[in-house]
Amino acid sequence: MKRILLLPGDGIGVEVVAQAERVLTHLKTTANLKVEFEQALVGGAAIDAYGDPLPEQTLIKAKGADAVLLGAVGGPRWDHLAAAKRPEKGLLRLRFELDLFANLRPAFLFDELVAASTLKADVVQGLDLLIVRELTGGLYFGEPRGMKILSNGVKQAVNTLIYDENEIKRVVKVAFELAQKRRKHLCSVDKANVLEVSQLWREVVNGMAKDYPEVTVTHQYVDNAGMQLIRAPKQFDVMVTCNLFGDILSDCAAMLTGSIGMLPSASLNQSKQGLYEPVHGSAPDIAGKDMANPLATILSVALMLRYSLQQPALAEQVESAVKRVLTDGWRTADIAQAGQEIIGTQAMGDKVIEALQ
Ligand code: NAD
Repeated sequence: MKRILLLPGDGIGVEVVAQAERVLTHLKTTANLKVEFEQALVGGAAIDAYGDPLPEQTLIKAKGADAVLLGAVGGPRWDHLAAAKRPEKGLLRLRFELDLFANLRPAFLFDELVAASTLKADVVQGLDLLIVRELTGGLYFGEPRGMKILSNGVKQAVNTLIYDENEIKRVVKVAFELAQKRRKHLCSVDKANVLEVSQLWREVVNGMAKDYPEVTVTHQYVDNAGMQLIRAPKQFDVMVTCNLFGDILSDCAAMLTGSIGMLPSASLNQSKQGLYEPVHGSAPDIAGKDMANPLATILSVALMLRYSLQQPALAEQVESAVKRVLTDGWRTADIAQAGQEIIGTQAMGDKVIEALQ
């Protein structure tokens, strides 16, 4: 029996996780998926209840779970709080505490949604890439960091880009393994023409390549990779990169698909325990109105089935059900074209479950 912790969080997080839970419950009864659920508070909801965006009891449940499904955290109600006490801090701490070093961000464009992309159809049709971003090291965590006033009165700030070879190896290993299961092409992104850290990164990637002879490895400088993502994104299968470059490139890749309501993500640790969440936030502008697109969260369930529950066939079933719903023309407001009928969050959940049947 696998244990899943549901963390709906705030705003539309609550609405979209409810639909994802229905999908998991459906698979439990129809496909004999052996899972049990628990639910806990995180983010603003946890601040309201316990004064802490990641209460101890939530963290204990998360550590004991095989997988965590999170909706979103945050909202204007908590915006006045100091940075250290805000809802987003709960999510950052959760990632850190679970040591989720590999962040997987697929950018997959359903044929039915080609018109939603800002790029020309022939550039993006058939897009299916996966960015693996290092998530717990690099510039965002490196020491020393901080701001000070120099003796001449000038303000100075410093951050440190630092990786050791073990930190690089573990995330690159995840990327190689994923490439093996996909189209067997790995592009490592760095800035090795300028940065020593990137030179080490490239050395590690090249050193590991011989262990994966069926995977073709290429390297791109990050500035070129950004350009190539816009120019010819279909050249990519799996991309692997450091925390900073991955943060930027994964948002660029996300936008190739045109809709934030469709994008799932997974963050994994060494034992493949994972945190699964839609890329979008809590969308306070539409929260509570049954308008949110639940498909990013339902597609996050597919990633959970594939990477933490070892159920690749069920993962494909969920992805096919989503595709079927889109082919049948069902749209929430964020992905609807002019003239298309619009349905709500709950109805979209109904349609996915019907398609699964
Ligand atoms: P957002 O992603 O919440 O919303 C951006 C826009 O996209 C809004 O217009 C929203 O209505 C729309 N949108 C987002 N998800 C949608 C969905 N599933 N269906 C339909 N439309 C959708 O980003 P924001 O407005 O910058 O942030 C709102 C709050 O969410 C902030 O408090 C922010 O800190 C938080 N946030 C949390 C996460 C997270 O929990 N991982 C990520 C990003 C932002």
